[in-house]
Amino acid sequence: MIVAIDGPAASGKGTLAKRLAEHLGFHCLDTGLLYRAVARDVAQRGFRLDDLWAAVATARGLDPKELEDPDLRGTAAGDAASIVARIPEVRAALLAYQRDFARRPPGAVLDGRDIGSVVCPAADVKIFVTATPEVRARRRFTEFEARGAGISYETVLADILIRDQRDSGRANAPMVLATDAMLLDTSNLSIEAAFDAAVGLIKRKIGHPGC
Ligand code: C5P
Repeated sequence: MIVAIDGPAASGKGTLAKRLAEHLGFHCLDTGLLYRAVARDVAQRGFRLDDLWAAVATARGLDPKELEDPDLRGTAAGDAASIVARIPEVRAALLAYQRDFARRPPGAVLDGRDIGSVVCPAADVKIFVTATPEVRARRRFTEFEARGAGISYETVLADILIRDQRDSGRANAPMVLATDAMLLDTSNLSIEAAFDAAVGLIKRKIGHPGC
């Protein structure tokens, strides 16, 4: 069984994906980390992020074991990721790994931007998680503040708006609400309430015994 979770930055989709995977006993892949790692490696090798050859070669050689680096979680890494993610050949190079992962028994939860539309169009369950840009920025800002990251709310909001525009405006695999995806707006929901709502959606869709 495949559960596809898509949505914009800081919508809560990553936390939700992890919680659902634990609940269902499934594997979990945060596909944003793949793009973040490609961007990090391109920059570390001294190339520009929009250098087609360097980005594609890096994506083809990416070792998914390199996804544990805590630096990949920051704003700069997310922003850099959205630049390499615009390159169709980079996306193509990361596709096979994501699809293989999705097939791991007994099931997998993948979160990203194009899981339900491109990576796993036949996923059993598709949920598009969203929240207003202001709510998303406030959540991210609170996380950064707790880590003493010294970044303002306004900067976080501006980054989220730029990223939304880049991700939904790109020609290849843009962030879209797949026609058969269920929408989950978490603007007014706690993590717990969002999880309960998602379990309810899955139950309604397939009545999985774990839900
Ligand atoms: O989800 P996360 O914020 O970590 O993703 C970082 C960036 O990677 C996104 O802004 C997006 O540009 C790109 N991405 C993507 N497709 C995915 C996952 C992430 O294009 N499936």
